[in-house]
Amino acid sequence: MSDGTADAPATTVEPVEPRPSSVAGAGQEITTLRAVVTGCAGFIGSHLSERLVADGWQVVGIDAFTSYYERADKEANLAQLATEPRFRLIEADLARLPLEPLVAGADAVFHLAAQAGVRASFGETFTDYVNDNVLATQRVFEAALATSRPRVVMASSSSVYGDAATYPCRESTTPLRPRSPYGVTKRTCEDLAEVYRTLGLAVIGLRYFTVYGPRQRPDMAIRLLCEAACGGPEFRLLGDGRQSRDFTYVDDVVDATARAARVTLLPAVANVGGGREATMNQVIELIEGLSGNRLAVRREAVQRGDVRRTAADTELARRQLGWRPEVDLVSGLRRQLDWVRSRAERLGRIGATPSAVVAGVAR
Ligand code: NAD
Repeated sequence: MSDGTADAPATTVEPVEPRPSSVAGAGQEITTLRAVVTGCAGFIGSHLSERLVADGWQVVGIDAFTSYYERADKEANLAQLATEPRFRLIEADLARLPLEPLVAGADAVFHLAAQAGVRASFGETFTDYVNDNVLATQRVFEAALATSRPRVVMASSSSVYGDAATYPCRESTTPLRPRSPYGVTKRTCEDLAEVYRTLGLAVIGLRYFTVYGPRQRPDMAIRLLCEAACGGPEFRLLGDGRQSRDFTYVDDVVDATARAARVTLLPAVANVGGGREATMNQVIELIEGLSGNRLAVRREAVQRGDVRRTAADTELARRQLGWRPEVDLVSGLRRQLDWVRSRAERLGRIGATPSAVVAGVAR
């Protein structure tokens, strides 16, 4: 049995579907669904916001533009949404912003804002993780519960599992033993979700497994490898390169997240893994093959918090969200490499400011 929240039974909830407007006359107008997306300026949140707007949702995006990486990167993530009449941006810290007026009347809250990153979660910077993950999440749940009780779809992480005894990790049987303070905050968010579920809030925690694709955060391994392949700095490989990740293309993550707003039987948590497990050495080879360039790699010791392997059992997401990953690793890497290349051409430089980057294995 898990020692986590995954044993909580799935809850039957109202599907989030467009409803006839209360002012609908003959020919019935359909009301637009309203979403709040937290972390909308980030890597995954910006893709999700674009997908929701394309699907006809009205989106209020909240982001604090935290300093973990460059503000310019986040503004660029929002470029397409900036001209979109169905998208509104609110720049604010979820840990302080009065949330009830924004959440009231929403059909769903997609809560993706967080302080991400495993290694920076050790030491003094842990306070950022407490603020942006634990406190912000508790405030989102409180606001949802106090208002119209929109469904909350929350980004959790494979980091809640830590180093598992057996793979693939299954929600109902794999114990939760995070190896990093970041993983602990994500597990705490899942525990909070369970508390609010018992109070009547429909919440699901999606455990994302190493997400990659265009706009990937500048501290993540595939981004750094693509940059190295385009003439950027050498790649610092932490460990022997045989550590592996279950890589998940961002469009697949977005699809699972959007689906979670619409199903009637809502599991407490679900793994969202691409099923494309590869070692870092394999990824380096693939990127060398795709780019035609040999990568400069500097090998360094493995760092605390990094797990040896991640691999998701996605049966639950397949069954209950009707989801399956579509993008294979080579196609996804090609798309990310193209994006890194065109970004470098556009900006005349590669990568983020060095201070913002903690290189190594993706989480
Ligand atoms: P990201 O850093 O690109 O995006 C997160 C956004 O949240 C940022 O734009 C940041 O400014 C914002 N934010 C942080 N704290 C905030 C606060 N207090 N108030 C308002 N906004 C705040 O990260 P991402 O990679 O897009 O990750 C999105 C979510 O998915 C996070 O919850 C992360 O923990 C989770 N996740 C990501 C991965 C991955 O591989 N990228 C894997 C597992 C889980």
